[in-house]
Amino acid sequence: MKILLLSLYLLVTAVRFALDWLNLRHRQQADQSLPPAFDDQIDADRLKRSDAYALAGDRLGLVEDAGGVVLTLLFLFGGLLPWYDRLVSGWVDSPIAQGLLFFGLLLLVQLLIGMPFSLYRNFVLEARFGFNRMSFRLWCSDLLKSLLVGGILFLIMAGGALWLVYTAPQSWWLWVWGFWAGMSLFLLYLSPYLIEPLFFKFTPLAKPELEDGVRELLDAAGVQAGKVLQVDASRRSGHSNAYFTGIGKVKRVVLFDTLMEQLEDRELLAVLAHELGHWRCGHLRQRLIKSQLVALFSCYLAFIFLKSGILPAWLGLEQLSFAGQVLLLGWLASLVGFFWTPVSSWWSRRQERQADQFAINLVGSGRELATGLVKLARENLSNLFPHPLYVAIYYSHPPLVERVLWLEKRTPQPPRQKA
Ligand SMILES: [Zn+2]
Repeated sequence: MKILLLSLYLLVTAVRFALDWLNLRHRQQADQSLPPAFDDQIDADRLKRSDAYALAGDRLGLVEDAGGVVLTLLFLFGGLLPWYDRLVSGWVDSPIAQGLLFFGLLLLVQLLIGMPFSLYRNFVLEARFGFNRMSFRLWCSDLLKSLLVGGILFLIMAGGALWLVYTAPQSWWLWVWGFWAGMSLFLLYLSPYLIEPLFFKFTPLAKPELEDGVRELLDAAGVQAGKVLQVDASRRSGHSNAYFTGIGKVKRVVLFDTLMEQLEDRELLAVLAHELGHWRCGHLRQRLIKSQLVALFSCYLAFIFLKSGILPAWLGLEQLSFAGQVLLLGWLASLVGFFWTPVSSWWSRRQERQADQFAINLVGSGRELATGLVKLARENLSNLFPHPLYVAIYYSHPPLVERVLWLEKRTPQPPRQKA
């Protein structure tokens, strides 16, 4: 079984690297001609810059990925896991404390290993292309705050789950799922008040006329939102976005200030109309339900596997702690999940199309959304020439060129002439 698992891991890893390589080659060999909608926005110079940006990102991703593969191999197949498991078991007696230490230390190590990459990404790579706006001080304070918030959440979520496992050994899968589902709903409600303000400053829109436009759009879409806010994303990065979040009475529209800088108001409203489409088409609810069903199923499967006691033998081990077995299961789930990626990407692209169609109906044209998206691609130096197979497997949104052509095709040609 150990050999089988190792082969499966190597196979998935090989496929992932092959896809990256395919995508990279495709971008470099594409003839790089763009439809007329891109004419005034993206010239040869921009394309060169976005190529260089993508290549730099690919390189960093490759190093990071390769490092991750080596560590995984060492940990699971090179004898580190049983050693670590015994070490942690020797420190404390309580199985709950053992589990918390087991995962907590691993997460800390992961954070430490990821730190140089994060520093390099922000202060070298993103800075070179003019995206980074974060000071080192802000980076440090972000790190400390996320450590604090993450640590507290980890203690509650993992500690609570482990306690349930030892309190209700015959039915813990249902209790753990219920506990996590309740906690995530609770966080969905509280995060805008408790967690997000720790990192970002939310203020009313600086342009009152834009707020009027947003309110009109919300009315037209039949969406009731409490607040329309802008967020100071520009303190960290030049990348831009808009989102619509919340459930029940805490629904709110949030616009990145960078988005407001980069787009004209009518384009921004079209982007927002797309976001409202996700809400009105029930995508947010579907995603919530889907993730809860997956969580329920995973909890039950984990329960069955852990009860059977066959997991240690899969790695050729005599014994492995509860936490060690959960880790092994999580790793297996991520492997199996890879085969599920194309399906969920396809599903997501389908929803994006539906939201685009909703935006066209609401705004009366797809032109503003199209020009807005082209501008965003220009500002974000997006890759405009992804490999179709890469798109099929990973892309949660339709690739931009295809999306813009689709939007234009759906938009009735206006009688107006170009001045
Ligand atoms: Zn979308």
